[in-house]
Amino acid sequence: MKFHIQTWGCQMNDHDGEKLSGLLSTEGFEAVDSAEDAELVLLNTCSIREKAVHKVYSELGRLREEKQRRPLMVGVTGCLAQQEQAALFKRAPHIDFVLGTMALRQLPRLVAEAQAGKSQVMDTGEYLDNHLFPPSVTRRRDTAKALVTITEGCNHACTYCIVPTTRGSERHRPYEDVLAEVRGLVERGYREVELLGQNVNSYAGGCTFADLLERVSEVEGLEWIRFTTSHPMNFTKELARVLVSTPKVAPFLHLPLQSGSDRVLRRMLREYTVGEYLERLGYLGEGRAKLALSTDFIVGFPGETDEDFEATMKVLDEVAFDSSFSFIYSPRPGTASLRLKDDLPMDVKSERLKRLQQRQNELTRASNERFLGREIPVRVETHGPNEHGWWLARSGEWKTVHLAAGPGRELPFGELVQARVTLASPHFLGAELV
Ligand code: SAM
Ligand code: SF4
Repeated sequence: MKFHIQTWGCQMNDHDGEKLSGLLSTEGFEAVDSAEDAELVLLNTCSIREKAVHKVYSELGRLREEKQRRPLMVGVTGCLAQQEQAALFKRAPHIDFVLGTMALRQLPRLVAEAQAGKSQVMDTGEYLDNHLFPPSVTRRRDTAKALVTITEGCNHACTYCIVPTTRGSERHRPYEDVLAEVRGLVERGYREVELLGQNVNSYAGGCTFADLLERVSEVEGLEWIRFTTSHPMNFTKELARVLVSTPKVAPFLHLPLQSGSDRVLRRMLREYTVGEYLERLGYLGEGRAKLALSTDFIVGFPGETDEDFEATMKVLDEVAFDSSFSFIYSPRPGTASLRLKDDLPMDVKSERLKRLQQRQNELTRASNERFLGREIPVRVETHGPNEHGWWLARSGEWKTVHLAAGPGRELPFGELVQARVTLASPHFLGAELV
């Protein structure tokens, strides 16, 4: 059977897709690049905002029509599957099976049951060993960086967030397992890993997250370690020290702030004030100048006043984030923030988002301009010779780099090369191969 997995959402979903792909390949299924060529289509879904959910339902609509034309099995997994469970069959009766986020290893059984003619097959059980997925099964996408799970789930309870529902509470992978996986990846040629969890810095798999970073950095042959995502309240002095003083830890920190107003942060149940967030950044000391800082913002949270929003704009400028992701608040089913009055008109929310993003673009351009003329190591992310003569690469600070090396020249995929930065735009750096 030929299968295709379509993934939406975050790195955890990307990595789940790699695990699911491995499970099907082990069973002798063949991966294909497009849904049109597949006999089994698996939708690996995201439900963090309403827009992500719309995309899934629109793809399901398309697949319903396709199913009328030819034999096709449709499965739904990921956060929407865990959130909606059997309700998905009501809304889209052509779905053959629903697989929860904590039941990945049940996929072959569900497919076999559906193949045997059983309808509306489902497993959304909370298997407590889901995070102990065998790395030998994972079938990685062809990327320069390898994703590695260290924790699953989240023990925070931000009032807007669906993740604790869709991913359950925290489970940590023992550090020995993490190290064994990283060593195996380096043997297979990877030079960069990204440690994954909804909240990596609450890691408790036999050591702290700071310890884990140090241990992983001792793996010979590994060049860069990244991690995502961190919660400000679990960001310790020790972690800050390791981040700024361990050469293999890439100089990049994503620390979601969400809002610059204490009143809004309280209503979000973020567990910190703006002052405490800034204090955490202060832990980085002088090392902070070497790091690129990134964050997330939610704009238009219920009850956000002009004053609250101006406070966010003020912190944005004060910290001068190198980059940020910003979203309009999206009400999610079953979350506590649904009980808050949300009467701010959408055009006001959109206007605020636009202002924030415009300002961020200026800050990002300024951050990029600081790289002009510098020689920096970047990892090549494009395969093979390139007729246009430029390659995509990534700096340690997670900047996208368009690297010129001359037409027809082949650069070593996945390797670090030295580049001299010649151009800074708000969205990328242009550079020449040194
Ligand atoms: N665990 C991480 C954290 O605490 O920041 C990431 C969670 S989520 C996958 C990534 C971002 O989506 C959040 O930081 C938040 O800014 C945004 N987000 C989550 N729920 C949202 C909602 N209901 N509406 C709009 N944005 C949301
Ligand atoms: Fe969601 Fe908050 Fe947990 Fe992040 S820390 S996943 S925003 S509940």
